[in-house]
Amino acid sequence: MRAFIIGRFQPFHKGHVEIIKKILSENEYVVIGIGSAQLSHTLMNPFTAGERYLMILNTLEQSEISNYYIVPIEDVNSNPMWVAHVESLTPPFRRVYTNNPLVKRLFYEKNYEVLSSPMFNRNEWTGTKIRNKMINNQNWEDTVPETVYNIIRDLDGVNRLRDLSKTDEDPI
Ligand code: ATP
Ligand code: MG
Repeated sequence: MRAFIIGRFQPFHKGHVEIIKKILSENEYVVIGIGSAQLSHTLMNPFTAGERYLMILNTLEQSEISNYYIVPIEDVNSNPMWVAHVESLTPPFRRVYTNNPLVKRLFYEKNYEVLSSPMFNRNEWTGTKIRNKMINNQNWEDTVPETVYNIIRDLDGVNRLRDLSKTDEDPI
C-alpha cells in the first residue's frame, strides 16, 4: 500500500521522523506533503517550502530511508477542491495518516482509507512548542534531528524567528 502524510513541518522534528518510520513499516512508500507551501517568514510558518524540503530530504537520507516522495503543496481556498489539488501533485496513494479532522473528512469523502496516526512524545515534539523555545532562548536542539539543527543554524533560523516576533511599535 502507498500512504500519504501532510504537515507544515515548521520545523521537521523527531515526532515527524517517528511517524514516517511507522508509516513505512506498514506501507510500500510514503508521500510526504509539505502543507501551506506558499507560507514562510511568519511566526507560525517561519521556514520556506524549500527549506522544509531540505530538512526532510537530509534527515531521511541520513536515516537511509529511500521509499518516499516529498511534494510541496500550496493551500487552495476551497475545501471541496483540496483533495483533487493534492492528487494533481502527488504520486498515487490510497491510505492517509492524519489526526486533523478536516483532512480526515475530506479524504474520507473521496473514499480514501483514513487512519489516525499515533503521537510520539507529544509533550516535547510539537512544532508550536519548538518555535516558542527558539524565541525564548530555551533548549530546543534535542527535539529535532541533527540534520535539521544544522540547516536551521546555517540559515540563521532562530534569529529569523526572533525578528518575526518583534513589533515596530514603540514600547509604552
Ligand atoms: P504545529 O504545532 O506547528 O502544528 P506539529 O508538531 O503539529 O506542529 P505538523 O507539521 O502540524 O506538526 O504535523 C504534521 C503531521 O505530523 C500531523 O499529521 C501530526 O499528526 C504529525 N505529528 C506531529 N507531531 C507528531 C509527534 N510528536 N508524533 C507523531 N506524529 C506527529
Ligand atoms: Mg500541527
